[in-house]
Amino acid sequence: MDRRIFLVLLLAGCAGPAPPKPDAPSQVPPPGPTPTPETPAPPAPSVDAGFDAWRAQFRTKAIGAGLPAALIDRELAGVTPNPRVISLDSAQPEFSKPIGDYIKGTVSDERIARGRRYRTELPFWPAVEQKYGVPRDILIAVWAMESAFGAVQGDFDVVRCMASLAYHGRRRNFAEGELIAALKIISSGEASRSQLKGSWAGAMGQAQFLPSNYLTTAVDGDGDGKRDIWGSSHDALASAANLLAKGGWVRGQSWAREVTLPADFDYSLTEGPRETPDWWAQLGVKPADGGGWSPADQGAKAQLVAPAGASGPIFLLLPNHFAIRTYNNSTSYALGIGLLADRFAGGGPLVRPWPYETPLAIGDRIAAQTALLRLGFNPGEPDGVVGVNTRTALRNWQKARGLTADGYLSMEMVRRLNVEAGAL
Ligand code: CA
Repeated sequence: MDRRIFLVLLLAGCAGPAPPKPDAPSQVPPPGPTPTPETPAPPAPSVDAGFDAWRAQFRTKAIGAGLPAALIDRELAGVTPNPRVISLDSAQPEFSKPIGDYIKGTVSDERIARGRRYRTELPFWPAVEQKYGVPRDILIAVWAMESAFGAVQGDFDVVRCMASLAYHGRRRNFAEGELIAALKIISSGEASRSQLKGSWAGAMGQAQFLPSNYLTTAVDGDGDGKRDIWGSSHDALASAANLLAKGGWVRGQSWAREVTLPADFDYSLTEGPRETPDWWAQLGVKPADGGGWSPADQGAKAQLVAPAGASGPIFLLLPNHFAIRTYNNSTSYALGIGLLADRFAGGGPLVRPWPYETPLAIGDRIAAQTALLRLGFNPGEPDGVVGVNTRTALRNWQKARGLTADGYLSMEMVRRLNVEAGAL
């Protein structure tokens, strides 16, 4: 699971209670008699001794990273773990949304209409495209997905979020690194603590940059001397373009192409080799719209995917698909961005629509993985997360049973696997 897949799904619900003000008392007085002036008050008991222990070791680490002790102490004074952040970080949805439903929600008519307006209304596109080589349509799609065109940036105190995640421990190293980055931003004076607002996962501003991304990759697009990814759309979108350019965006190439496959196609080639469109054409893989390839795309190495199985749309993914995944390492996310961008640019809907699917409960997914394991097709530890290992195991089982080996876990495949494993 990548760092921000949950962010995309949960961004809308991310506004939380305001963190305590840095100067607010860190805890309520302990119950009991008020000490008389003659008796000095004992040190107040800690609300959470484990958190205090974490803070002490983090302080040493942050000083080692070059931060002034006084700044660390000032910013972490009164900070407590945010239980909401920890519960969001631990959440695993009961049902996994079928990719077709996810994409249909992502590529909505309302978003398409707004995105098409922004491609002409904003004056800075030619400068950003010229400098970074990333088309405006991709950047508008990122903007739409990350922050609803800047409208939903998250209202969490990023310092408290990262302290909570670091203390919680599941991603301690990552969160401590991001907390150090957030403190460095404050230390530099580029943004104040009260400006460092973001999602529960610490992604900030219109482009939802983590603090470390901000330090290394945010840029001052509008030239006012500040990298304001919260208030300046120009800064935020130029920063997003810079992130994609650093992630390997190839100027002038597309991100993917919908294709069709011949009837007898070997689906075990999906999620496999990266080859040129000519190589794929020899296997009968052709653009679904009947057109040809641009000269720029002709030389690109592309990977074939069937994200919703053999009955859904099929794509050849060009290198720019993988550049989008530097933003969020998820095929669904990157497909959503690319397909939205294509619609902004005036393209029509897919030639083959997404199939209607029954959402699989986590129990269905674990049962299918357990069945694959029992049948000798190792998907890794059954955890309900359908990743590349599960899809490969499923593909091998499908191939061995003479089924279409598309590696797609549909309810029908769950049923067949349960029947076969149950008969052992
Ligand atoms: Ca600026």
